Amino acid sequence: MAEFAYIIIGGGMAGASAGYELSAHGPVVVLERENQPGYHTTGRSAAVYSEAYGNATIRALTTGGRGFFMDPPAGFSDHPILTPRGAMFVGRDDQLTALDRTAEETSSLVKTIRRIDAAEVLATVPALRSDYVAGGVLEPDAMDIDVNGLHQGFLRGLAARGGSVVTNADVQAVERAGGLWRLTTSAGEFSAPILLNAAGAWCDKLAEMAGAKPIGLIPKRRTAITFDPPADTDISAWPAVVDVDEQFYFKPDADQLMGSPADETPSEPCDAQPGEIDIAIAVDRIEKATEFKIGRLNSRWAGLRSFVADKTPVIGYDAAVAGFFWVAGQGGYGIQTAPSLGRVVSSLVTDRGIPSDLQDLGVEQAAMDPARCQAA
Ligand SMILES: Cc1cc2nc3c(=O)[nH]c(=O)nc-3n(C[C@H](O)[C@H](O)[C@H](O)COP(=O)(O)OP(=O)(O)OC[C@H]3O[C@@H](n4cnc5c(N)ncnc54)[C@H](O)[C@@H]3O)c2cc1C
Repeated sequence: MAEFAYIIIGGGMAGASAGYELSAHGPVVVLERENQPGYHTTGRSAAVYSEAYGNATIRALTTGGRGFFMDPPAGFSDHPILTPRGAMFVGRDDQLTALDRTAEETSSLVKTIRRIDAAEVLATVPALRSDYVAGGVLEPDAMDIDVNGLHQGFLRGLAARGGSVVTNADVQAVERAGGLWRLTTSAGEFSAPILLNAAGAWCDKLAEMAGAKPIGLIPKRRTAITFDPPADTDISAWPAVVDVDEQFYFKPDADQLMGSPADETPSEPCDAQPGEIDIAIAVDRIEKATEFKIGRLNSRWAGLRSFVADKTPVIGYDAAVAGFFWVAGQGGYGIQTAPSLGRVVSSLVTDRGIPSDLQDLGVEQAAMDPARCQAA
């Protein structure tokens, strides 16, 4: 049996970032069921970094990772992980209050965010309809994330520090005896005193195997499409355009546009597939807001964004099961928060508390404590 200090279940962004940081403290193995670690949610995201998105904890974690993203450690990546994009939240007449509230809440943390009028919205993305848009909020410093570059950077760094990733390793049984976890997988047996549950949509299933109380994690399906922009339209400088009540979004994706109906349909953990109705809703909502006539789709996919009730990640040791650590509930923010969450996980696993720079931004251990989700 292979022995380690830490076993991490799940090789997506959560497991990779945690493994990267934790491998500085002892031998780590990441166990991944699929033959590629980014196969599930990590490989299906919209790749946006927005400091205005999500609740206060998410926004603090996102801002706290900006330094890492902009200036990663030597050798992490040979090209920038973030590239300028910008984000523009837009609304109709009946959404003006939501725009004001978004501007007020987010500009306190990010000084460059500002409320803009309909004329500026239309000047920024002329394809939006003048009889639809009543105003916007501009986040000029939102970025595109090279998700694969970030993920591979974590996995390479983990390997360079002596950690390993085992793919095609489906964890099938989990037992604890004599202070050690012993895992049976399709790639052999592994043991360690500390087990990290970074299994994405499957986190509650893994917890059940380990005898831990579930956290009420709900995987929610989100659909994405890509399509060509209107002929002779230069989309390269457009920001991501997001309905202020998150009813749809679209953004340039190389020379095409990626769009979503921003659906959140509860699902069992699975290999999520896009539904025809959600695709039709995406096309309808985007066409209503713009001059686009969306014909043929270039691609379509869906992924699971997994949330607990308060939409804050669940990070910490289980109160009732020794050596069982949760890395769950990253929802729709698991890429942009990954540098910070990797550090938080490593620091809490090794009993050092939340890193002080993240505390200064308002990240609190209590807000992420698994016990808050296990009370019922
Ligand atoms: C359409 C869409 C758009 C998104 N846009 C953004 C965005 O713009 N910005 C952002 O920050 N986030 C975004 N997200 C969210 C982000 O993608 C997720 O928060 C993040 O990828 C979650 O990573 P994860 O590692 O927890 O999950 P996953 O990538 O799903 O990894 C979990 C892994 O655990 C493995 N596993 C499960 N059970 C077992 C087992 N028994 N044995 C072994 N392995 C197991 C799975 O195979 C899987 O690979 C988006 C998501 C979607 C779907």
